[in-house]
Amino acid sequence: MYFTSNTIAFLDGEFVPAEQATCGVYAQSLHYGYSVFEGIRAYNTPAGTRIFKAEEHYERLHYSCKAVGLPLEYSVEELTRISYEVLERNNLTDAYIRPLVYAATPNMSLKAATSSNLLIAVWEWGKYLGDQSLRLTISPYERPNPKAVPIEAKVGGHYVNSIIASTEAKGRGYDEALLLDMNGYVAEGPGANFFFERDGELYTAPQGSILRGITRNTIIDLAREAGITVHEKFFKPEELRTASAAFMTGTAAEVIGIASVDDVVFEKSFQHSIGGMLASHYHALVTGQAVSRNASFAEQAR
Ligand code: PMP
Repeated sequence: MYFTSNTIAFLDGEFVPAEQATCGVYAQSLHYGYSVFEGIRAYNTPAGTRIFKAEEHYERLHYSCKAVGLPLEYSVEELTRISYEVLERNNLTDAYIRPLVYAATPNMSLKAATSSNLLIAVWEWGKYLGDQSLRLTISPYERPNPKAVPIEAKVGGHYVNSIIASTEAKGRGYDEALLLDMNGYVAEGPGANFFFERDGELYTAPQGSILRGITRNTIIDLAREAGITVHEKFFKPEELRTASAAFMTGTAAEVIGIASVDDVVFEKSFQHSIGGMLASHYHALVTGQAVSRNASFAEQAR
């Protein structure tokens, strides 16, 4: 349930009942997938409600707007302040925050919008992909070609690719898809980045055909702080046969284990993998608990 009759959303400068936050069917965004958005989480910490990496998320929202020519009239600070207020007005501490910038003006032209609309909605959302290790399958759909779209921008229209890939994978009995890039290298999931573990080190796709996730960056930082080498490099699906474990990362999914990719079953359980250890460090970080990063961490993970 994303909203009830009591939910308040921020829409174009006002806090309004979510039921009244509507958009007309002639909107340019609706016809052409011409919108940008963010997925952010707030956590209940000992210091109160804290939005995790609000600045990074709202800087990415600005970057995404610029990439597709949608004006955004709010600063990072204003967006952050409004987000806290939406949480407060809904009495939410642990919540998912969805800012959406779109063009509501009736406009069937293919010209960039000259004005935009802003929605900030919040709701309670458990881990998007659940907390059981996932069975993935390589998707017949590739990630969009980065020469066709600004792939590092979080554009509404890009998610048609995610929807069809995820639906196709589930239709074949898997939990989620894993998409390759146009050169046949493993890129990412429909809404999360992908890592694998081999010989005590981590591997993940580099910049190119992925959304460089904020969770991905956080996990890379946590791993490196713990003395674990992280390689950002291109790899083919065949290389997964040499992996002992894998996991995915995203704001909505957080850190989730991968049991298998097609017929490749990983030997380590998530709990005993580097990903499992980093998941608990990630949880401690976002919820503001003391993080014990000792020298034995890297050793334990091996
Ligand atoms: N890749 C894609 C395609 C995504 O939609 C997301 C979710 N935003 C991610 C990766 C993970 O990004 P983040 O960690 O910033 O949520």
